[in-house]
Amino acid sequence: MENHSNFIKTIIESDLETGKHKEIVTRFPPEPNGFLHIGHARAIITDFESALAYGGYTNLRYDDTNPSKEDDVYVKAILDDIKWLGYEPKNIFFASDYFEEMYERAVLLIKKGLAYVDHSSPEQMAKDRGNINTPGTPSIYRDRSVEENLKLFEEMKEGKFKEGECVLRAKIDMSSPNMNMRDPALYRISFAEHHNTGKKWCIYPMYDYAHPLEDAIEGITHSLCSLEFEDHRPLYDWVVRETEMPKVPRQIEFGRLSIENTVMSKRFLRQLVEEHKVIGWDDPRMPTLQGLRRRGYTAESIRHFVLSTGLSKVNSTVGTDMLEASLRDDLSIRAKRVMAVINPLKVTITNYPEGQVEYFDVPYNQDNEALGERKIPFSKHLYIEQDDFVLEKPNKKYKRLALGIEVRLFHAYFIKANEVVYDNDGNIIEVLATYDPATKSGTGFDERKPNGTIHYVEATTGIKAKLNFFGPMILGDDDMDLMDRFNEDSWTVKEGVVETSLADTKPQDKYQFMRNGYFNTDTDSKKGDLIFNEIVPLKSSYK
Ligand code: ATP
Ligand code: MG
Repeated sequence: MENHSNFIKTIIESDLETGKHKEIVTRFPPEPNGFLHIGHARAIITDFESALAYGGYTNLRYDDTNPSKEDDVYVKAILDDIKWLGYEPKNIFFASDYFEEMYERAVLLIKKGLAYVDHSSPEQMAKDRGNINTPGTPSIYRDRSVEENLKLFEEMKEGKFKEGECVLRAKIDMSSPNMNMRDPALYRISFAEHHNTGKKWCIYPMYDYAHPLEDAIEGITHSLCSLEFEDHRPLYDWVVRETEMPKVPRQIEFGRLSIENTVMSKRFLRQLVEEHKVIGWDDPRMPTLQGLRRRGYTAESIRHFVLSTGLSKVNSTVGTDMLEASLRDDLSIRAKRVMAVINPLKVTITNYPEGQVEYFDVPYNQDNEALGERKIPFSKHLYIEQDDFVLEKPNKKYKRLALGIEVRLFHAYFIKANEVVYDNDGNIIEVLATYDPATKSGTGFDERKPNGTIHYVEATTGIKAKLNFFGPMILGDDDMDLMDRFNEDSWTVKEGVVETSLADTKPQDKYQFMRNGYFNTDTDSKKGDLIFNEIVPLKSSYK
């Protein structure tokens, strides 16, 4: 694990030094209403790393206090993503496990005169709240007696009221400059079926009431969350104190992570899935962890990227170049370097015997011997990239094949183009070339220099493959409607040819297609029907 210091660790260290805590306990509290995205990765990494650095642990707690939006599909996917990132939660809890205790603590608040049932309409309540410049107006129900409140709250629980008819509110301060303290709602009525507790409850705790209790019940020492909860902290502390929780967690906020041209709103991502703009939550263009994974991003590169962005008390936006650089660093060691031709052009070696194939032993990655080696075939029939051939060498800088010009084929021989074959429309469909046996790779031949080195695939053993290329999923400005910003041209497909060693590739196998980019074997790829996703091109376009 990388060791980065930050303001959260400074607080934790001081709490350990003063003896306030002996063990550090954090939690990651996702709402199971969507798949995790790369922004969540910052929260996960911060939660786990902050505890791990001091021998502590982290709970995964599903914040399932909103019955209408939650689903078990998300519950599974979230755990899967956390494990993929490389973390193991100590415990897996559901906020709904604590509904009983939360209810009892609410009764305690009522008994202490600190909560009341309010029958005001939502419109009235909004009006009574006032605004930053105007103090709120107390509800006409604010001074109900403890007995009446206990009875009404009991009736709320028993389903005697309709949805929206009343709520339980904290009795704090209607003129507080902090709007969150103006008698916030603690419980609301909902008859929706809950994914965990079914129809048992028809009252559900509000986030601001539930969250501090969940933390306190689990003995969380440091409750790390994103910056938008800063103004909620006084309420968080009020709830823990007034419900008389024995263990007192401390909320600490950190800045949210945003990435340029990347929208991480779960609502928007869900809309893309539901309107079939994308093939699913794991569409390789999606900023979800499942999407990034299908595309071919590695957990290590995401972790390294998030840690290198640093943690601060302000929200930050970083360019995709940082993430891509972290990815290339990781892939350059991890990926097998193989040859694939994206836009094939036939080359026939006229002086090579028909029917003969020879093989060269070549390591998969010179920088990582552990990846082993494979045999690369060479014969009379080859494919090269269309881009690697022109009729006439245009200038000195051109380091590829042209008529009368000689290049090296990686790991094989020098070849020289002599003639071309055209189709009826005048397109070049084949290059006739000769090879020089004396130039065999590895023999130390140095009598002349080739005009560059290009890649190729032997045609009789090469395997056709579908290659997916991705552009930005979102274009345009922040002030445009998000659905209008969806880039309809963000996915293009090509039919290429890959070297024979890829015949048995499995989903998630990662390759560098030499001179082209990094590719990942797609989830749907099968023997005989190979599919690869471009993860990232070899070089940054930011240069
Ligand atoms: P969204 O806004 O995408 O719906 P959310 O914050 O509502 O996300 P939760 O499931 O509540 O989704 O998120 C779990 C945790 O992840 C929260 O503590 C939240 O603060 C944190 N989180 C979400 N997005 C980011 C981000 N971009 N950067 C850092 N932390 C984030
Ligand atoms: Mg949230």
